[in-house]
Amino acid sequence: MGNDLAVSVKGLRKAYGRTVAVDGLDLDVRRGEVFALLGPNGAGKTTTVEILEGYRKRDGGEVRVLDRDPAEPTADWRGRVGIVLQGTGEFEELTVGELVHHFAAFYPKPDDPDEVIARVGLTGKAKARTHGLSGGQKRRLDVALGIVGRPELLFLDEPTTGFDPEARREFWQLIRDLNAAGTTIMLTTHYLDEAEALAQRVGVIADGRLVEVAEPGRLGNRANAPATVSWRT
Ligand code: ATP
Repeated sequence: MGNDLAVSVKGLRKAYGRTVAVDGLDLDVRRGEVFALLGPNGAGKTTTVEILEGYRKRDGGEVRVLDRDPAEPTADWRGRVGIVLQGTGEFEELTVGELVHHFAAFYPKPDDPDEVIARVGLTGKAKARTHGLSGGQKRRLDVALGIVGRPELLFLDEPTTGFDPEARREFWQLIRDLNAAGTTIMLTTHYLDEAEALAQRVGVIADGRLVEVAEPGRLGNRANAPATVSWRT
């Protein structure tokens, strides 16, 4: 794997019983880019990302993430990979500020938690308990928790599902700012417009395989097929 790749996947396979979720998937994420994995429900996006994050075991294939196999993570490697969790429900009694400070303490070289809270636009909510946040604010908090360790690579799994249009646009700007500051980002999404707005390259996943990779605006038939037009919002 060349040093220009943050993620390299070859022939990835994962089945849940008889359900084949990932079926010989190949993909690369280059250092410094935003790569979007675009596909409909059940295509295998979450399974793929969870394997790359080191949270799920694969059945087969070669995977390198920041030059390591995520199935054998080290503490150092974990500190270099940011993961945006789906929810913060189990920390409901903490305030936004307490939670981000708490997460920062897990990392060897964390960012300034208050600065991270400002970067995700939650300074006004630093003293608020997390259960009182809106959906968009919770997602921003999830991102704050994902980036406070100063990751080189950030995984975001369907980050804007359930957002209203304005919250989506604000969130997109946050992703762009993170990338401009040097963070490599891999995100999954159902939405063609989101993939094209954010990513330098878009990979289309269908039935557990990568069927196309293209720059925004250059995706071919698979991304625009009738079955997937609903991804446009
Ligand atoms: P979505 O957009 O709905 O989240 P996805 O593209 O992320 O879908 P996956 O969640 O990876 O896709 O699911 C791929 C396939 O694997 C689907 O058929 C799904 O039902 C199945 N699957 C996912 N997780 C499990 C599990 N824990 N146990 C059994 N089957 C699963």
